[in-house]
Amino acid sequence: MRKKIVAGNWKMNCNREEAFSLATEILGMVTDEVHQPVQVILAPPYLHLSAVAHLVSPNGISVAAQNCASEISGAFTGEVSAPMIKSVGAEYVIIGHSERRHIFNESNEELTKKVNLAIQSKLIPIFCIGEMLPEREAGHQQKVVEQQLRESVFHLSTDLFAGVIIAYEPVWAIGTGKTASPEQAQEMHEFIRSLLKKQYGEAISDGTSLLYGGSCNEKNAHELFALADVDGGLIGGAALKSRSFVNIIKSF
Ligand code: PEP
Repeated sequence: MRKKIVAGNWKMNCNREEAFSLATEILGMVTDEVHQPVQVILAPPYLHLSAVAHLVSPNGISVAAQNCASEISGAFTGEVSAPMIKSVGAEYVIIGHSERRHIFNESNEELTKKVNLAIQSKLIPIFCIGEMLPEREAGHQQKVVEQQLRESVFHLSTDLFAGVIIAYEPVWAIGTGKTASPEQAQEMHEFIRSLLKKQYGEAISDGTSLLYGGSCNEKNAHELFALADVDGGLIGGAALKSRSFVNIIKSF
């Protein structure tokens, strides 16, 4: 059985008090209201990783970093490495988010290094893929996500790939209020699973959690999470409101 997962990407939001309140509220509601086996993951800014991890991980909620450096240590001012992230209690790291790809120009080659360092550091990558609007309009969406997978994760051996989480996030749906239709989401998730099967075989393809991300909210989550190949969501805006985020978690 694939793990059901809901991960909240807080992006560059929340000062210390706000982060503590948001995590505390989510923890309380999840403890009281969530009775299904769902792995909840919170991805606060680096600065709050340690505090949030200490607060939530004793209760089964995990913490992810939103990024990691493509080098392991050294003279890289402002960067944070995968081993540092691991050392403060995070278990996951988001790699290849479209904002990293498009605002910070991260290439598939750089993302390969991040994936390798995350795995070496015993962090589970949540690897993001997704096409831009012109690519979808030209009918190239499958080609784009296939290339992103081939160039950044398919070099991994079967053993190392096992456990990696893939998040399909069409760039045109992120933060725009435009969600992929259930048909578009299922079609792409099914395609991604078929690529995993060709590359790694049936056990990996069946066992890999594929998350949908892009304007997922408490109104549309139920329909998206009911799709055969959608195993949960990577949530941006709606992850900043405890009630909305927990309602999304309860949408399976
Ligand atoms: C995201 O940033 O990963 C995301 C899915 O954002 P939003 O839910 O706001 O579209």
